[in-house]
Amino acid sequence: MVLRLYNTLTRDKAEFRPLDPSHVRMYVCGPTVYDFAHIGNARPVIVFDVLYRLLKQLYEPAARVTYVRNVTDVDDKINARAVQDFPEMKPVDAIRHLTEKTYAQFSADVAALGCLPPTVEPRATEHIAEMIAIMERLVASGHAYAAEGHVLFHVPSMADYGALARRSLDDMIAGARVDIAPYKRDPMDFVLWKPSTDDEPGWASPWGRGRPGWHLECSAMSWKHLGETFDIHGGGIDLVFPHHENEIAQSRCAFHTPVMAQVWMHNGFLQVEGEKMSKSLGNFFTIRELLDDWPGEVLRLTMLKTHYRQPIDWTLKSVEESARTLDDWYWLARDLPAAEPDPAVIEALSDDLNTPKAIAELHGLRNAAQRSGSEGDLARFVGSLRFLGFLGETAEAWASRKKAAAGVDQAAVEALVQARLAARKARNFAESDRLRDELAAMGVVLKDSKDPKTGEIRTEWEVGR
Ligand code: AMP
Ligand code: ZN
Repeated sequence: MVLRLYNTLTRDKAEFRPLDPSHVRMYVCGPTVYDFAHIGNARPVIVFDVLYRLLKQLYEPAARVTYVRNVTDVDDKINARAVQDFPEMKPVDAIRHLTEKTYAQFSADVAALGCLPPTVEPRATEHIAEMIAIMERLVASGHAYAAEGHVLFHVPSMADYGALARRSLDDMIAGARVDIAPYKRDPMDFVLWKPSTDDEPGWASPWGRGRPGWHLECSAMSWKHLGETFDIHGGGIDLVFPHHENEIAQSRCAFHTPVMAQVWMHNGFLQVEGEKMSKSLGNFFTIRELLDDWPGEVLRLTMLKTHYRQPIDWTLKSVEESARTLDDWYWLARDLPAAEPDPAVIEALSDDLNTPKAIAELHGLRNAAQRSGSEGDLARFVGSLRFLGFLGETAEAWASRKKAAAGVDQAAVEALVQARLAARKARNFAESDRLRDELAAMGVVLKDSKDPKTGEIRTEWEVGR
């Protein structure tokens, strides 16, 4: 199967070929850990999880797939929040405490969204030596200079700076909101390293005690875990400039390479009910808040109904629709064995991760499996769902979660359902209709079907919405 990916660098969709046929390498910018992740942050995590699953499917076991998603655990936003939230602690302890806590929350949240753990989750604070090594190379080759405890990348030293963002110099200056500092040789020059006060996190360096700039962190971590050049680099569209442009400048000038990553992929932005998500508008949702109301797989399906490069409008209506779809899928799949994912699903994803098409294929597989009831069709349907990160729970756990949320006495309902089924099998239709009405009055909806294996009638129930 040919994998085609849209590349922001070339503004073109092209066949993907790993630089090293025995090792596929992907880096995605991860969270800055100071607060709960919001549903917009979940988008790149879910999108690149689907790509990771696809790469594994297409390349393993012949080749190895390495997916690196970093953790930014040194950042001025972290420092400020740590001191504010834990005033009783020493700043370094407060920072450690905040980043550990936030990272644990993030990991739990994205696991609930059905995302596999990446191969490596490197932390910036554990890669200071690599950052210093990159700066030494850049200073030695005239791409960076030290000034007043800072180390700065000298943008005019790179002939094709701006190739990813393709912006004019004026736009880039405005877009970067560059601060005009007296120690800068050029207003576009950006910080690789800055001095730290005693209260701020800092590490010894040839330029004095200090801490790295955000862009440098990703160049160091991708180098350490993937090498000087690698295959795919991903993140949200907002990271194209300046973050990714600056990562490229650092890595390419440090290693004298024609590219940092060959393919650059960016997900579109998420907005809520047609508006930009913001705390002041009251439409700001953390993943954690949404997980209180919905299973993670419902959120995952909602995200994947839109192609990753399109903007997504997150609406309650869409989430509810996903919940109904998953109820139906769990009901039909009911813990049956899985086969390999269907080739039509893989093919849809191989066209630049066309998840809406893949989901349409799932609906088709569902209908075919229900019509035929054949083991093979059901197994392909189940395998395709599992491949995409669904069916992480048993059908019973799925159904009972919903029943529990509806607040009915499950044991009492179950007894009535079984009594009705027995009456029906005994052809006592007056009694079975009476019991159905009694259940309906409780809001319980029944769904009879034939067990595809035994041919027996079975009854599922749920609480109607
Ligand atoms: P940040 O914590 O802001 O650095 O964001 C972490 C990741 O989430 C980056 O890849 C961002 O591009 C992405 N991101 C942030 N907000 C949104 C949003 N509203 N929609 C989609 N992606 C987002
Ligand atoms: Zn990055």
